[in-house]
Amino acid sequence: MKGTILYGPGDIRFEDREDPKIIAPTDAVIRMAATCVCGSDLWPYRGLQPINGPTPMGHEYCGFVEEVGSAVKAVKPGQFVVGSFATSDNVCPHCRHGYQSSCVQREFMSQAQAPFLRVPLADGTLVATPEGPSRDLLPSLLTASDVLGTGWFAADAANVKPGATVVVVGDGAVGLLGVLSARQMGAERIIAMSRHESRQKLAREFGATDIVTERGDEGVSRIKELTRGVGADSVLECVGTQESMQQAIRAARPGGFVSYVGVPHEVELDGQALFFSHVHLHGGPAPVHRYLPKLIDLVLNGTINPGKVFDLTLPIEQVAEGYRAMDERRAIKTLLQP
Ligand SMILES: [Zn+2]
Ligand SMILES: [Zn+2]
Repeated sequence: MKGTILYGPGDIRFEDREDPKIIAPTDAVIRMAATCVCGSDLWPYRGLQPINGPTPMGHEYCGFVEEVGSAVKAVKPGQFVVGSFATSDNVCPHCRHGYQSSCVQREFMSQAQAPFLRVPLADGTLVATPEGPSRDLLPSLLTASDVLGTGWFAADAANVKPGATVVVVGDGAVGLLGVLSARQMGAERIIAMSRHESRQKLAREFGATDIVTERGDEGVSRIKELTRGVGADSVLECVGTQESMQQAIRAARPGGFVSYVGVPHEVELDGQALFFSHVHLHGGPAPVHRYLPKLIDLVLNGTINPGKVFDLTLPIEQVAEGYRAMDERRAIKTLLQP
């Protein structure tokens, strides 16, 4: 089998690797139906996150179960499954509280940009669909593995309620699907912060009512203007930089909720500013598994079409071009076909 390996900044190769096989009795091996490049893959790709030698890449996946270990009960060969980017046993205390991405047995998936994938803790990580889905649903089902699940968590953690005024900071796939999620949860006003025309268009399609192109202080005063000086009920921070985090906290009203799902890179919070902001903060790696059954349902019954975030589809052998296109912002998100 060939798979995707990052060798260093800008150096992605699709090359021979060992075929994944069952190692623990709780493992499954799946044959990928679709996989993709994540915005978070760009941090190490750009050299902004150190790697320890050649690193297999990819953590978003869906496909058909090929083989299961002897202890696996919930999924069986031939079934179509979607799994979270973080593995979970779904039985430990953190899982029971709905925080499967903090499972005591958690592993982060990292070899998914390949035709086959070993999934540890298959019973607690994978969710099967009732039947094999039609091909046109694959992109949307794939988003549930991370970007949709993460956008949904962002909206949920920011306490989006019917009638709410919501701000979404970040116009990557997660931010855009945060917009879609907020719409599903009944937000009345959704202000997307975006500077890119194609992303603004998709944000509107997903339910954004306003677009703010300004950033930093100007962005915050624009939000204040749009909310009659009050600030937003819910703010979804979907980037992970100092600027975006500060912007998010300052855009919320006192008593408002800020969620943060962008992996932070050199973010530091000022205690005084936080103290006087009066906001609720809740974020982290999204417990995607908690939402998978619902999200899969919403896709299968045609309520949502999150697969629209994929604006580039390539055969998996061309994965390097998929990274380049996202790095250069020519693509929002690249789908890879095995
Ligand atoms: Zn991802
Ligand atoms: Zn657990």
